[in-house]
Amino acid sequence: MNSERPHGATAISPAAAIVIIGAGQAGGWAAQTLRSEGFTGRLVLIGDETHPPYERPSLSKTVLAGEAAPASTWLLKPEAFEALRLEWWVDSRVVRIDRGAKCLEMSDGELLSYDKLILCTGGKARALAVPGADTTPSYTLRTIGDALSLAPELRPGRSIVVIGGGWIGLEVAATARQKGAEVTVVEAQGRLCERTVPPEISGHLLGLHGAHGTRVMLGAHITGIAQDADGLSVVTLADGNTLTCHAIVAGVGLVPNDALARDAGLECDGGVIVDKSCRTSDPDILAAGDVAVTPNPWAGRHLRLESWQNAQEQGIAAARAALGLPVDYAPLPWFWSDQYGMNLQIYGFPLPSHRVVARGTPSGDSFLLFHLDGDDVVQAAVGANAARDLRFARRLIEQRRQVDPDRLADPNVPMARQ
Ligand SMILES: Cc1cc2nc3c(=O)[nH]c(=O)nc-3n(C[C@H](O)[C@H](O)[C@H](O)COP(=O)(O)OP(=O)(O)OC[C@H]3O[C@@H](n4cnc5c(N)ncnc54)[C@H](O)[C@@H]3O)c2cc1C
Repeated sequence: MNSERPHGATAISPAAAIVIIGAGQAGGWAAQTLRSEGFTGRLVLIGDETHPPYERPSLSKTVLAGEAAPASTWLLKPEAFEALRLEWWVDSRVVRIDRGAKCLEMSDGELLSYDKLILCTGGKARALAVPGADTTPSYTLRTIGDALSLAPELRPGRSIVVIGGGWIGLEVAATARQKGAEVTVVEAQGRLCERTVPPEISGHLLGLHGAHGTRVMLGAHITGIAQDADGLSVVTLADGNTLTCHAIVAGVGLVPNDALARDAGLECDGGVIVDKSCRTSDPDILAAGDVAVTPNPWAGRHLRLESWQNAQEQGIAAARAALGLPVDYAPLPWFWSDQYGMNLQIYGFPLPSHRVVARGTPSGDSFLLFHLDGDDVVQAAVGANAARDLRFARRLIEQRRQVDPDRLADPNVPMARQ
């Protein structure tokens, strides 16, 4: 067992069983970490999909475009399960947690005992909630299966309406345009990705999609969807206008899979609430990834992160905490998106109260925006095609150091010398 175990922390018994619900990215990392940290007991990874744990980012990018095989997303190859002595319960669904008996009930009635339980159940794509949604075919994108069903729609001669101008919607729009489909993005808010980026970035995204021939409708509310006599889909807007298309894709957010936890009486609020050691309100149950609501010192509040980084790092942290190792999970949040060859990255939480300092022009191909608080300390950074400089920006944020805004804005002053 790892030497970092503090005096007094209880080592988990070799006869113990650790069960992970959710064989996604966080679950896959939790399983690998339990073994790499020396856990020798029974280890069970339960997933209701038919694939080994996989990473989802390329589902809206290269896999959707047909440029990468679904298997390229796998985090663990099936051969690895034996080496890890990991029981992978594939296509298996947990329907109930009995905390008193420390036992799980599967959809086929089978029971499974646990000593420690890690919830990595992620989330599901939010369904459209407009009249006609239950009778009109539409696509969402969360799984490999979703990407494989949507991909054939993205070709010349097809028209796609993407509902939602957030990250998934915009990545689908970019891939669809690159595959030759006509694309309209309908966004209810006044700008793209309004919840996560400053207006400069929303403007940049708008210009980027417009330049590639995508029609973007902002502040547009949908009042219903339907299928016409020719089998085409019709989207009706609040102003009475309609959009007719071959396929509707809904990118309207994620609903955390926290029903198991709620039904078991664990504290939940838009996800499963955990502390900085990834523990839920039951000390034998931990949670990680998209389903976990975590105290985040960078945001100064509890929140749920939906990102590749968080799925990996919190999966690792939860596994360590399950073994009694010290865990203080507080990574600086990092997210990226790829659209039309542009790589956008965000470190930290850009807030409207921040002063924004630009390095490069947000209408150009490569630029960085720094978000400074009232003391000229960098709190967040957003960059397009600026991966190298962003690594320095990350360091500035983590060091919580005061900066000179004029030097920061000057591309002639290297980031290493800020
Ligand atoms: C299309 C797409 C593109 C993305 N692109 C980016 C990106 O560019 N950058 C970035 O930072 N992040 C991106 N993300 C986000 C990132 O992929 C997620 O944050 C990450 O996958 C979350 O991992 P997770 O393990 O928490 O959840 P998931 O990967 O959702 O895994 C949860 C698993 O648990 C299973 N499960 C749920 N309930 C049960 C149950 N009761 N019994 C058994 N199994 C159950 C689910 O079916 C699922 O397989 C993207 C996500 C998507 C969908």
